[in-house]
Amino acid sequence: MIDIAANLAAVRAQIHAACARAGRDPAEVTLVAVSKLQPVELVRAAYASGQRDFGENYAQELRDKARACADLPGLRWHAIGPLQTNKAKYVAAVADSFHALDRLEVAEELGRRRVGTPIRCFVEVNVAGESTKSGVRAEEDARRLVDAASRVAGIEVVGLMTMPPLEGEAAADVFAQVGAMAKGLGLTELSMGTTEDYELAIAHGATVVRVGRAVFGARPR
Ligand SMILES: *Cc1c(COP(=O)(O)O)cnc(C)c1O
Repeated sequence: MIDIAANLAAVRAQIHAACARAGRDPAEVTLVAVSKLQPVELVRAAYASGQRDFGENYAQELRDKARACADLPGLRWHAIGPLQTNKAKYVAAVADSFHALDRLEVAEELGRRRVGTPIRCFVEVNVAGESTKSGVRAEEDARRLVDAASRVAGIEVVGLMTMPPLEGEAAADVFAQVGAMAKGLGLTELSMGTTEDYELAIAHGATVVRVGRAVFGARPR
């Protein structure tokens, strides 16, 4: 049996250590436990260990898990995967935050479907221009999307998100670029860093890290 409590404690300790090295307050960094493809029992185990923020990639899986966990007060869902407009309703209904905003149509559909507090949105940037990843490439594209999406009722643009290339050197460079871009756009939140590189991301100013395997173990196929 996987020990979720021990894994969470280890990740939280690494976050604290990375913050100490960077001279940052750990309270500035939110750990999103990425539970995609993992069973609801593991979400419940993490919740019992005090974890409140959970990330899901797939809109229907998010809808189903949110329904299965509706009895857990204070649990926040983060939709972290690319989204098609026809599935935006699932995200708008249950998510606290959406991390992969890459075009205005998705922002508009989320806003149209949202009831209550605005959904917090991160514009996804793909500065390395990797064709396998979504996101806007250039700073002017990010600016245009941030400006337009900021005028949409029902959503609130809070920051930038990125998925860097896997090689360490390139990731550091991407994190630094995205951090500078957020500053230039006047955005305070930075969603970056996974199991591979969350400590590096914290060194470069991440305020949200999205960690799956280090918390829940390898994903079932
Ligand atoms: C799966 C995923 C993560 C978590 O990745 P791990 O390697 O399991 O930590 C983070 N962000 C996004 C966008 C993902 O799709």
